[in-house]
Order: sequence, then C-alpha cells, then structure tokens
Amino acid sequence: MSDRPKLHRRTLTGFTPTEIKSIDTAIPAKCRELWNKFGTQEFATKEEFQKSFINHVEKTLARSLYNCDVLAAYQATSDSIRDKLVVHWNKTQQLHTAKEAKRIYYLSLEFLMGRALDNALINLNIKDLTSKGVDELGFKLEDIIGVEPDAGLGNGGLGRLAACFVDSLSTGNYPGWGYGLRYQYGIFAQKIVDGYQVEVPDYWLNFSNPWEIPRFEIQIPVDFYGYVSTVKTPSGGFVKQWNGGQRVLAVAYDNPIPGWDTSNVNNLRLWSAKPTTEFDFSKFNSGDYQNSVADQQNAESITSVLYPNDNFYKGKELRLKQQYFWVSASLYDIVRRFIKSKRPWAEFPEKVAIQLNDTHPTLAIVELQRILIDLQNLSWEEAWDIVTKTIAYSNHTVMSEALEKWPLELFNNLLPRHLEIVYEINQRFLNYVGEKFKDEDLLSRVSIIEESSPKNIRMAHLAVIGSHKVNGVAELHSELIKTTIFKDFVTIYGSEKFTNVTNGITPRRWLRQANPKLTELIASKLGGYTFLKDLNELKQLEKFVDDAEFRHQWDEVKLHNKKRLAVLIKDLTGFSVNPNVLFDIQVKRIHEYKRQQLNIFGVIWRYLQILATPEEERAAKWLPRVVIIGGKAAPGYYAAKNIIKLVNSVSQVVNNDKSVGDLLKVIFIPDYNVSKAEIICPASDLSEHISTAGTEASGTSNMKFVLNGGLIIGTVDGANVEITREIGEDNIFLFGNLSEEVEDIRHEHNKGTTHIPSQLELVFNEILSGTFGDPIVFQGLIDNVKYHGDHYLVSDDFESYLETQDLVDQEYKNKEEWIKKSIISVANMGFFSSDRCIDEYAENIWNIEPVTDQV
Ligand SMILES: *Cc1c(COP(=O)(O)O)cnc(C)c1O
Repeated sequence: MSDRPKLHRRTLTGFTPTEIKSIDTAIPAKCRELWNKFGTQEFATKEEFQKSFINHVEKTLARSLYNCDVLAAYQATSDSIRDKLVVHWNKTQQLHTAKEAKRIYYLSLEFLMGRALDNALINLNIKDLTSKGVDELGFKLEDIIGVEPDAGLGNGGLGRLAACFVDSLSTGNYPGWGYGLRYQYGIFAQKIVDGYQVEVPDYWLNFSNPWEIPRFEIQIPVDFYGYVSTVKTPSGGFVKQWNGGQRVLAVAYDNPIPGWDTSNVNNLRLWSAKPTTEFDFSKFNSGDYQNSVADQQNAESITSVLYPNDNFYKGKELRLKQQYFWVSASLYDIVRRFIKSKRPWAEFPEKVAIQLNDTHPTLAIVELQRILIDLQNLSWEEAWDIVTKTIAYSNHTVMSEALEKWPLELFNNLLPRHLEIVYEINQRFLNYVGEKFKDEDLLSRVSIIEESSPKNIRMAHLAVIGSHKVNGVAELHSELIKTTIFKDFVTIYGSEKFTNVTNGITPRRWLRQANPKLTELIASKLGGYTFLKDLNELKQLEKFVDDAEFRHQWDEVKLHNKKRLAVLIKDLTGFSVNPNVLFDIQVKRIHEYKRQQLNIFGVIWRYLQILATPEEERAAKWLPRVVIIGGKAAPGYYAAKNIIKLVNSVSQVVNNDKSVGDLLKVIFIPDYNVSKAEIICPASDLSEHISTAGTEASGTSNMKFVLNGGLIIGTVDGANVEITREIGEDNIFLFGNLSEEVEDIRHEHNKGTTHIPSQLELVFNEILSGTFGDPIVFQGLIDNVKYHGDHYLVSDDFESYLETQDLVDQEYKNKEEWIKKSIISVANMGFFSSDRCIDEYAENIWNIEPVTDQV
C-alpha cells in the first residue's frame, strides 16, 4: 500500500482520541471562542429556516425572489435541511471516533433510497415547521417534495432492504456505515409504449444532488489487470506483489443518514470512479492523444450504470470490475481508519464488522486477506483468522440462475493475485474437509472452483468459507439454504454457522411517511408516536377493534389512501377507477418466479366469468375489483416483458368493455419505484405475494402492505409464513402447493405430465383466439406452462388460487369483519420493523452496541 498517495487533508472521522486531545490543546483560545460562537449553528424556528432558505436561494443558487421556482425552492429547502444534518453528522462521527466504538460496515451494491427530503424532515421532526415556513414563501411543501427524483440505486427488495437497514442503524444509535456505488444512472425509468416496456435512462443527477457531500480529497487508487511477481523482503523472506495494469480512482460521496428521534446521523459512502491524473504521456507523445483520452473515459464507465437484473446472474466483466472497485476502495478506507488507531491487527475484528449483502461483495474476503498478507506482512493463518472473524454473509436466494459464478479466465485476467489467493483458500479448505471426511464427491461439491469447462468460481461457496456467520432472510429460507445449496457446508461446519434474520422494513418511511393519516389515527389511540421506534406498541390497537367509531375512522383512512392512488392512476394511465371497490395490488419486479402470469391468467378467468353471467345478474353475482399490477422487467428478460405486454393488453380490453363497467378494472402502473410504492402500499385492500413456494427468500412488500392495513393473498413462502404466525391465519389468504412438494411436482412435469386445469385451458384458448391482440406475443408464456415443464407451477396452483380469490370476495362483503382483520393485522406487525432486524444482527452477528452521548 506504500505506493499509494498520502492524503494531506483529513476528515474529522479519521482522528484518534489521542490525536483529538493533542489537536485540542494546540487550538488558540481566540479560535476556540470563534468556533463556539459561530460554529454548529442550526435553525430551530420557522423564521430561522426561512432565513436559511433565502440565503441558499441567493447565495448557493444565485437566484432571487423573482426567479425562485419550485425546483429552486426544493434545492434551497434541501440545502437548509442538509446543513442541519451535516452538523449532526460531524458530531456523531466525532463521538464514535472518540469512543473507539466498533463499527458495522454494510456492503451493498444497491441502496434503493427513494427520496431524501421528506424522510429527513420526518426523522428530524421539523416537517410542520418547514411546511409553514415554505407556505409563507409561496410554496406547498408537497410540491417541493415532489420535485426530488428518486435515488434509484437498486433493483428491488435487496436494495430497499439496505436502505431500511441504514435508517434503522441510525435510529438505533449504532455506529454503522453503508458502502456502495454512486451510479450515474440508477435503475432505468420504465415507459409503456403500445403496451410494451421501453427502458429510458435514469437522469437522477441532472440537477445537483443536495443530499451528497463530495469528498474530493478522498481519492483511493484501485488497480486492475497486470501480473504478479515475487519480491524479496528486507528480512530475507518473500512476498507476492501485484503489479496492476490499470489504475482508477475512487472518489467518496457521503450521504448523511438521519435517525428518527435521535441526533445520531450515520454515513452512506458511495464511490464514484474517475481517471487517475497520471495521463498516459507515452501514448500522447506517440501521437495517440485520442486513445489516451479514451482510456480516461473508460475509467468513469465503471460506476456509470446499475446492472438492472434482479435475482439473475450475468457474467459481465464490467460487473466484476464494479465489484472489485467498490470492495477495494471500501476496504482501503476501513483499514486506513483502523491503522490510525495504532492497535494490533488481532484487534481488527473487535473494531470492525463487515456484512456482505448477498455474494456481490464476496471479493472483500479475498481483498482483506491480500491486504493483510501482501501489504501488512501477516502470516496466512493470522490473516485468515481476522478475515473470518470480521466478515458475515447474508444469502438472498436459492435459485440457481441467480447464483454468481465467475469464469475463472475472466477473473484471472482482471485480478490475477486474487485468483492465487482464492486457490489457496480453496486448497486449505479442501485439505481440511478431505482429512475430516475422506469423501471425494464431497470435495468436488464444496470446492470453490467448479470443475466445469470453462471453470467457474462459485462465489457463494467462497462467501460461506470466508464468513463466521451465514444468514438467510426469513425462517423458511434460512431452513432451505441448510438443506439445499449449503447442505454440505452444514455437514462440514455444523449448523451453528447458519442462522436466520427475518427481514423488516422501516416504519418511519413505510408508515409515517407513506401513510400520515393512519399514523395520526394510531398516535391518537396510543397517545403519541413512540410506536414508530417500538413497533411492538402497535399491539395496543387490539383493544380498539370492537370500537365501531374507531373502525369507521380506520376505514375512512383507507378510503382516503385509495382516492390518493386513484388520482395517481388517472394521471399515469388515463383510466378512472372507483375508490369504493376492492383494490387488489401486485407491485414488485416482474419475474416468472413471482408469478404475475398467475395473477393475470386469474384476471382473464374472472373477466370471462363475468361475461358469461347475464348482464342483469352481474352486479348481484360479482364483487367489483380494481386489479393493479406494476413493476419493471430486466431489459433482456423476454418472458417478463411479455407478461407486462399481456397485462397492458388485458387492461385495454377489459377497461374499454362497457358491459363490465366497475366490476373489473385492470391497471398497469408504469415505472414502479420507491416514491410510487409510498402511494401504492397504503391503498390496498388486498395485495398479492404469490411466488412459487420456496423461491421468494423473504419479500418485504408483503410487510409494507400489511403494516398499512391491507390483507394478503399469498403462498406459503418467504416471510408470508411469519406474517401468518404473527397476525393469525384467519387474517391471511394462503393457497397453493408447499415448498416441500415443489421438487417432486417439477419432476413429474419434466417427465412430460403437466395437467392443465379446465379453467386455465379456457384462459389459454381465449388468449390464443386473439381477444387480447396478436397471440404470437403470448405463445411463449402459454407454452412454458403447457409444454416446457411449468417450472413455476402455475398449472398446479391455479385452481387453488381461484378458489382463494373467491373466498376473498366472500369475506370482503362483510365489511366490518374485514376491517377487524385489518386492525388486528396491523396490531401484530411489530416484529417486521427493520429496527428488530438490526438489533438481531448487532447482537448475534456483529457484536456491536448502540452509542449515545451519555457516557
Ligand atoms: C419494497 C420494494 C420492493 C420489494 O418488493 P417485493 O414484493 O418484496 O419483491 C421492490 N421495489 C420497491 C420499489 C420497493 O419499495
């Protein structure tokens, strides 16, 4: 590491307590007096906010009273709030440094943050003040909040989980940083053209981003390619030296993460790639100016775009470059911070915990080992002990198509020294397993290297071997990983290495921010807002379930939220929906395993049944419904894109069928993202979480919907299982085959026997007759079920799905009972706060504790 440039300017986060003391005594009295007088000023009143606002309009934005539009108002408001956050951020980081607290570093390639302004206003408890403040300045706070683009630095559940976790880390006063990438383009915007998804770049950084603090002084060199040599050390030994072939700089952008009802502000550090200032003069002098400039632009491409695949692996070199760039910069930063403490290396795991969000950051295991043995001259054994005590891994899927396997040649070319280390990790591991079990088959099954041609590196195996704990994200999933993909590792390590932390969501965003009306109502009954931090307090709502007036208020809130969604639907699609009828919602990434095809086939069945009912009998026989589907498909995922087309085609036909009227409306909401989820989740009567059993690791939108008083139709999968346990099986509509049965059923299908139930056959025939447009587009969706093994068990679960939807209709007719179910469900959702997740990780995996300013 010695060849890396020394940093001359240092941030406050970097000082040790001893350094702070010595700096402290060196500060002249006058300087300290000035600092006390003028430093750390933050607004506390409406007037002070307005002063700050105007100040930012005039000085930061160089605008005036006469050209302050809503964008300027958003920026000036955000700049004012950010000033406040930065003050708290500085104090928090000083406190954690002074206390030498152990920190958790959460490594995630995705942070699906959504909007920051509303969240900051809520967490700082200054929303009312700010609202009144901007009102007098001629703006509506709602409009100002609406200007902010989503920070869409993630695909779906995994990225949103990371965002909920950093909120809970801050709220729980844990010293914790997130590390990720600052993609220039986050998840694409989805346009619907002629019923098809069209991807449009996400220009989220077009206007300056007031929520990030660029740290241009923190530039960390990251190397790629090159070769490995062996060099003699002064003491006569040998070390391996990696001579990189390409160097890129990682620039830090810090995003302050406020906690709720605390002054604790943690950091989310996102790296952006830029070229080194070492311009290639040899190329330049040989007249190749063009190429030497092009190389530089190449560097920036590393962080230019988020890969838009959810639960799907694609072995692209640029993706591996992203992973190493991010892991290398983050570890350099973490190690540098530790080195300043001048503690012995053996204490590293007492100061640092690193959590891998899926296998994406698995290179951290190899990179930390490399730093310790090649650059810090520790022995292999000492280093490996530190690595495995520091790192833990969360698994997010058992689906084989989602498991990362890097082709060995590609890996070797990009990271030659890391491959040597992977080999040695593997060798030592296989030696151990070989001696203990004497089983050749076992060795080839657990090896990090897949001996296929071409050979692959199995990242999940490396992650298990290099971690002290491996967790799944819901009970069912955590049991499944132990009997499927990591079965052999349970034999080798014992089951204690494997644990469960069921996912959760932050109640600040998913209740307070998304559903202010319900929050108010709950607070009025519970006597305050502390349930936003102690979500188990919701339990007290059960006392009011027999209070008819309360039930009425509860229902009014739901109606309000449905009207709010109806406005959005009108805006986005032009369709009008009746907010008084059942809203049935499925929003999430479009994926065959999530089975939006099951939903839309069911909708077509319902439509055909309505048409088959004589018109004068329809109103009596059918309960009206609005079926709402939304989500993005990965750009290269044809089956998923055809599902979107089918939903839109059905929507056109059904919504324009005058004979159906309000009995059925079908809506596709384009460009589903976090800010839309905040409008959608509070507006469901019913939401659908209908993945093939055993495929959805947890799901988190199931939690968002139930927390907001919606009921669920779902399979026995992921966290649906624990939601059922918490809220009671009378309050959820479960259906379908169980995960234990799935493998045998698939086997039957693959032997050539897929029975298509008559209702589904009717649906298929209707599609093929051209009712929903040229059937050639949908042929593949049908053939997958009928002739290609129906991998997701659509045929097997279809009848059970329809029956359960009928049951939903029956129960919805009993309005008062439905509202009671809704209240009881919300009352029992305390377990699904991400605060509980973070407490569990802190206690069982990270061994960290909250830090508050009381000593
Ligand atoms: C919560 C959330 C998800 C995850 O939804 P699942 O149904 O659990 O897959 C995906 N996208 C967004 C925008 C979300 O807010």
